Amino acid sequence: MTLLLKNVHLIDPAASRNGRFDLIVAGGRISRIGRDLPAEGARVVELPPACVVTPGLIDIHVHLREPGQEHKETIATGTASAVAGGFTAVACMPNTDPINDHAPVTEFILKRAAEAARARVYPIGAVSIGSRGDQLTEIADLRAAGCVAITDDGRPVATALLMRRALEYAGMVGIPVIDHCEDPSLKADGVAHEGAVASLLGLRGIPGTAESIMVERDISLSEMTGGRVHIAHMSARQSLRAVRAGKDRGVAVTAEVTPHHFVLTDDALAERGGYDTNLKMNPPLREEADRAAMIEGLRDGSIDVIATDHAPHHADEKALEFDRAPFGIVGLETAVPLCLDRLVHAGVIGLPRLIELLTINAARALGLPGGTLTEGAPADLTVLVPDATVTIHAPAFRSKSKNTPFDGWTLKGAVGATIVGGRVVYVNEALVGSGLNDAS
Ligand SMILES: [Zn+2]
Ligand SMILES: [Zn+2]
Repeated sequence: MTLLLKNVHLIDPAASRNGRFDLIVAGGRISRIGRDLPAEGARVVELPPACVVTPGLIDIHVHLREPGQEHKETIATGTASAVAGGFTAVACMPNTDPINDHAPVTEFILKRAAEAARARVYPIGAVSIGSRGDQLTEIADLRAAGCVAITDDGRPVATALLMRRALEYAGMVGIPVIDHCEDPSLKADGVAHEGAVASLLGLRGIPGTAESIMVERDISLSEMTGGRVHIAHMSARQSLRAVRAGKDRGVAVTAEVTPHHFVLTDDALAERGGYDTNLKMNPPLREEADRAAMIEGLRDGSIDVIATDHAPHHADEKALEFDRAPFGIVGLETAVPLCLDRLVHAGVIGLPRLIELLTINAARALGLPGGTLTEGAPADLTVLVPDATVTIHAPAFRSKSKNTPFDGWTLKGAVGATIVGGRVVYVNEALVGSGLNDAS
């Protein structure tokens, strides 16, 4: 089936495209991008003028929970959630059960992802066996099996020596180390940001410095080894300062921020009486100065990527007291509305910059294909409807888990459709019409 998207508003920052184009998809690939292209037997689809077509969005920080925790999420439900959120590809964290610390686990994940046939899945391997922080995994084997990066996410790499070796070996096979930055002794058994709100609510605090100490250490180790380090879910203003300093002196460091860290602060905990465990995540929601710093980092380019840290948990697990509930929230189906509403419509950044943060920069951080539209490449596309109003309704999530603090929020900015390898895998007909429906 050949498809001609006629005169659509295309924004592809990496290709310097922002305007009306025709786009031809044939055999699952982008065959041509241009103006006034001849239909030549292609089925012509016109989208409503409010739609914006972008390269497929990529979320490089997702927990799919399979194998081992299928009551929270499976690769099938997680990738269905991804495409409903506009993401054509996700990179999945290794803290499954078993941990993705050897090639057969990686191969299992890729097999399940192929069976699900929704979003593309790029597995991330563990730094250490069992993510226990002592023995390095066989990084070359993980790489050969399909891992695109290594991390012990969920836990920091506690010793500088192990991080040094990880950066050296990962550097040799050309992949980055993704850094869950926290100093375990400073974080201790904290559950919320250390500050006035935690004191008021009687919650044990985690200072921003628990994060930035590790960011500083690992930027130094990246500088020493030449290996690439990617800072996951940055939340503290001190960490941003360290990233800026590292970039200024040419260190191979990139950084991501999650929507919840630039939308919310720990004030939300106080407003909800300190009981809402959907406000418990690691790193914690921080104070306004930190949130404002993340916004500034998104604006000035020192933050490279927006990633969700999609962390599904079953309702029963979150229905514990705040101290005992697990960390994390789902993010795949709320990211686009939060980003469009709070960054673009709020005037923080323009739409092309947002698309850059969600596409090409994400691809570059992990060395993934995609992130831009090139003739001959797989047709991974996202259709955004930036001016459409949506109300978040967690019970309707495709994700198996509903743990979000954003349920009931009304936001401006929606996903219209998601196309992976030329197949329409998600469509919101109310927003984009029925033209795409027969396309797959
Ligand atoms: Zn983490
Ligand atoms: Zn994570």
